[in-house]
Amino acid sequence: DMLNLLNTLVFILYMVVLTLSQTSEKERILRLNSQLQTANQKLEEYAQELKRNAMKDALTGLYNRSYAENRITRLLKTGHSGAMLMIDLDNFKYINDTYGHNAGDAVLQMVALTLQEGIEAGEAFRWGGEEFVLILQNKKQQQAVAFAEQIRTAVEQSDNGVCPVTISVGVAEYDGKDYQATINMADQALYRAKMNGRNRVEA
Ligand code: GH3
Ligand code: MG
Ligand code: MG
Repeated sequence: DMLNLLNTLVFILYMVVLTLSQTSEKERILRLNSQLQTANQKLEEYAQELKRNAMKDALTGLYNRSYAENRITRLLKTGHSGAMLMIDLDNFKYINDTYGHNAGDAVLQMVALTLQEGIEAGEAFRWGGEEFVLILQNKKQQQAVAFAEQIRTAVEQSDNGVCPVTISVGVAEYDGKDYQATINMADQALYRAKMNGRNRVEA
């Protein structure tokens, strides 16, 4: 009868509306899900970048001091023998005072590049303002001194676009020694290089 038919129609209509709303709800959830995935991926990339930046010095792109200790300790362990070079720019304050801080920054960047170029096994670190540390794996004292002499000359002869610049270098072998002992030895050798007139290598 009429009422029954109407009831059935209403019921069908109700089901259609329900199905339609469920479909759109499903689509909405799917859309949200894919948006969440994209956001998650971006977050992940951002976290990776933060991690990378936390290890690197912004000016030179070298590993920074806070990362150095971990990294160097690991390098000392994995290398059978090797050497640490402690490097300090000579009279750098004069360069800043004469040519300005930006020019000083450019000099630091160029020196960092020069230091990095010759290392086959090992790594370069920006230790402090105008100080750098190089780790050379599998190099004995004599080879390390020869390498230090090579980069000292390379820096001396490089054209950084600002002014001539030189470095003093302290070399220490790390065979069997720990991180701190190696640093101390390299530091003392660097001190001698400064005392003996700068632009030189001491071991
Ligand atoms: P020495 O030969 O005895 O090492 O003399 P020096 O002038 O190089 O040493 P000193 O420690 O007196 O001066 C270092 C200068 O390096 C002082 C500081 O302002 C400058 N410096 C440190 N970090 C930066 C930097 O990131 N950029 C610039 N432009 N200068 C820096
Ligand atoms: Mg210094
Ligand atoms: Mg200096």
